[in-house]
Amino acid sequence: MGGAGFGGFADVFGDIFGDIFGAAGAAGARQRSNVYRGADLRYAMDVTLEQAASGFETQIRVPSWENCDTCGGTGAKPGTKPQVCRTCGGNGNVRIQQGFFSIQQTCPHCHGSGKVVSDPCSGCEGVGRVKRNKTLEVRIPAGIDDGMRIRSAGNGEPGVNGGPPGDLYVEIRLRPHDVFKRDGDDLHCEVPVSMPTAALGGRIGVPTLNGQAEIELPEGTQTGKVFRLRGKGIRGVRSNVPGDLYCHLVVETPVRLTDKQKQLLLELDALLKDPKHSPQTKSFMDRVKDFFQ
Ligand SMILES: [Zn+2]
Ligand SMILES: [Zn+2]
Repeated sequence: MGGAGFGGFADVFGDIFGDIFGAAGAAGARQRSNVYRGADLRYAMDVTLEQAASGFETQIRVPSWENCDTCGGTGAKPGTKPQVCRTCGGNGNVRIQQGFFSIQQTCPHCHGSGKVVSDPCSGCEGVGRVKRNKTLEVRIPAGIDDGMRIRSAGNGEPGVNGGPPGDLYVEIRLRPHDVFKRDGDDLHCEVPVSMPTAALGGRIGVPTLNGQAEIELPEGTQTGKVFRLRGKGIRGVRSNVPGDLYCHLVVETPVRLTDKQKQLLLELDALLKDPKHSPQTKSFMDRVKDFFQ
């Protein structure tokens, strides 16, 4: 495909900062009252967390408008020519008198183009352009996040009556991940750990975006304990250093126990009667007692 290469997206890094803050000004440039900038186009792109973290290149198919081959863009049937609009004399505007006021309006006959096509081209129905699709190469920068937009200048809809074209915006939609939740540059994940491991401590494997890591659980690790793995998050598009990975431990109560396992737990429970083994429970019971007195 006569792809536009990266040309249209070469300013991605420059634009993205402005766009993130909604500063993409490009308010419709109106030289004349009947000259309009083309509408912007939006393209929603679903992105996985892994893709967002590392950045990637892809191709997208977007609508584009080309001059009609049949009429060469005039909109007039081959062999005929567009005529100067008689209503406005070719300047695209008409003045109408309303009481004391003279109001300038876009010519209702030619819609501002100043020309009328009496014998429209069959290839484009008199518009002069035909809609096609084109392929654009898109470079998604590493660290991109949900809701961010990348602007490709000039790849929107064509302008009206010679106005500049609109822009194309690629809007990023981050897909939910099975393991990680993203919060800016940081990642969070829940790591289940068995009751005995939590009590005895030891090394456990935890996932990171670039492979397995290990953390050392101290003895008596409680559920909800958070371990931070520095730098194992995502380096955002505006960040110099990557964020962190927070592993939230969840101590899992064993289920579907056999009779023997139940028996052992009962024996263990009997050996844990000393409140020093369950300081949270003791503290809670003390507060409840105070509350009722
Ligand atoms: Zn045509
Ligand atoms: Zn006119």
